[in-house]
Amino acid sequence: VIEVRDLHKAYGSLEVLKGVSLAAPRGHTIALIGSSGSGKSTLLRCCNLLEDSQQGDIIFMGEKVRWKGEGPNRHPADRDQLVRIRTNLCMVFQQFNLWSHMTILQNVMEAPITVQKRDRAEVEQAARRYLEKVGIGDKADAYPAQLSGGQQQRAAIARALCMEPMAILFDEPTSALDPELQQEVVRVIKALAEEHRTMIIVTHGMRLAADVADHVIFLHQGRIEEEGPPDQVFGNPQTERLRQFLSASG
Ligand code: ATP
Ligand code: MG
Repeated sequence: VIEVRDLHKAYGSLEVLKGVSLAAPRGHTIALIGSSGSGKSTLLRCCNLLEDSQQGDIIFMGEKVRWKGEGPNRHPADRDQLVRIRTNLCMVFQQFNLWSHMTILQNVMEAPITVQKRDRAEVEQAARRYLEKVGIGDKADAYPAQLSGGQQQRAAIARALCMEPMAILFDEPTSALDPELQQEVVRVIKALAEEHRTMIIVTHGMRLAADVADHVIFLHQGRIEEEGPPDQVFGNPQTERLRQFLSASG
């Protein structure tokens, strides 16, 4: 669904991604791990074009992103393509990012109606179905502040699902939650993996990565240091850096 080839990204003189390649084939879950500052969030944001990159290819559904300009002046050239990619690669953030002045149902319905121009009645039906699916069907008319962190994150996942995206990108979806609340979000993500949704998950939760990922990528200082199936990456790490990272992560 989404592929990145030799991607480079810098903020000014700070090189954050130094030639990263990855592929998330349809139905697969990729986990991105690595220490703070290694470039995980930046990589996710480059994938759905929330962030520009300076070099390398991004390929969505076999279609290369078209650019205008070069290096620091490189930007997506095709507005329709950009919108297509954004709406098909939905992000779920650590801090939920729900609209506080809208009910949960309104939050979930917002983008499908305003961005995707879908029919309101159809969207409402889908939104209620997804809220049910993540276990908060009874919270449709509540406001975000009235929900626990775990419920807010599940609402954010329902909001992503309601876009019917080709893939979902999670940036540390459980990091802001207490351990008991993490579990309810982990359960939802596991259920999505079992349905063979395409996902890329940045996580500090090694258990989550081991449980749901088909492929684990360890980023270190903007490069892929090591990657492979979870039992290899976690059970038999090849590089000293990954061994150190894993022992530090408990
Ligand atoms: P964490 O685990 O802490 O979330 P990360 O792996 O997600 O870390 P990134 O957020 O991708 O790391 O950041 C990678 C590097 O890029 C860091 O050195 C960070 O300070 C820098 N960086 C990120 N965003 C910006 C920005 N908007 N402007 C300048 N530098 C940035
Ligand atoms: Mg991050």
